[in-house]
Amino acid sequence: MQKGKLVVLGSINADHILNIEHFPRPGETVLGQQYKVAFGGKGANQAVAAGRSGADISFIACVGQDDIGERIRQQLSSDSINTQAIEAIDGETTGVALIFVNQEGENVIGISAGANAAVTPDYLSKHQKLIEDADALLMQLESPLETVMAAAQLARKHNTQVILNPAPARELPDDLLANIDVITPNETEAEKLTGITIKDDASAQRAAEVLHQKGIKTVLITLGSRGVWLSQNQQGKTIPGFKVKAVDTIAAGDTFNGALVTALLEGTEINAAVRFAHAAAAIAVTREGAQPSVPWRKEIDSFLQ
Ligand code: ADP
Repeated sequence: MQKGKLVVLGSINADHILNIEHFPRPGETVLGQQYKVAFGGKGANQAVAAGRSGADISFIACVGQDDIGERIRQQLSSDSINTQAIEAIDGETTGVALIFVNQEGENVIGISAGANAAVTPDYLSKHQKLIEDADALLMQLESPLETVMAAAQLARKHNTQVILNPAPARELPDDLLANIDVITPNETEAEKLTGITIKDDASAQRAAEVLHQKGIKTVLITLGSRGVWLSQNQQGKTIPGFKVKAVDTIAAGDTFNGALVTALLEGTEINAAVRFAHAAAAIAVTREGAQPSVPWRKEIDSFLQ
């Protein structure tokens, strides 16, 4: 099968996760229970989802010159990702998320961008040929905004489709939105972008209209276990997700985005591409963790049979 080339531009983090009875108050030390290090960052999670679901993918990102950065690069390679545009930056540490999880399953998170901040417009221009030659560019908002804007502009100039997962939630300049072909906010992100609270079909469509007016042709608002709201040509509808027993929904959206783009690059029409992405995300929510929960192509295909 002829498939298009994908570039992901985004973040790489090492997630340090400590399970703890209660969150420490200022000055308090609390003895934790289980501790683990997991590989994360929205860019990396989405790249892994694309790689495992069968995309021909290159990843533009930065790690620090440290041991964990090298281990993450190797892991990404074994997830079928071309890692040539992932450089180890001198004097930087790999991006870190420090995550406390309490007994109720709530979390508090502190992030150090570290080497992710080195994904600058200059760094982008070193690797811009990848975007010029690609059929699609997938990005999130954990990289410097000026780089995301420059990449979208470059992609538009070279007829590379731009898919933006606008996470974490923030407002965005019209100049950026004008260069986006497909946008995939969740409900919180859609509200931040449009000022409209998503509570039913009518409000979802109103939010989609705001984004269409900014120049975006395809709006996909993800609705958790309810699926997505898809709007194109001023017409919207729900495409329901799959009913599964969710264990944890970490990286559900990341898996959805990576798999969606894989299907679109295989020439799959949008309804079927969303169904494929729903299947991938549904499998991911039945498993624990971020990257370990992301399914391979064979698993998605057999889920859909
Ligand atoms: P995010 O993780 O970015 O907040 P959502 O929670 O909206 O995104 O979920 C993204 C996609 O993941 C959904 O559109 C759906 O395909 C899938 N998904 C999320 N939660 C569930 C669930 N409980 N059961 C089945 N699929 C789910």
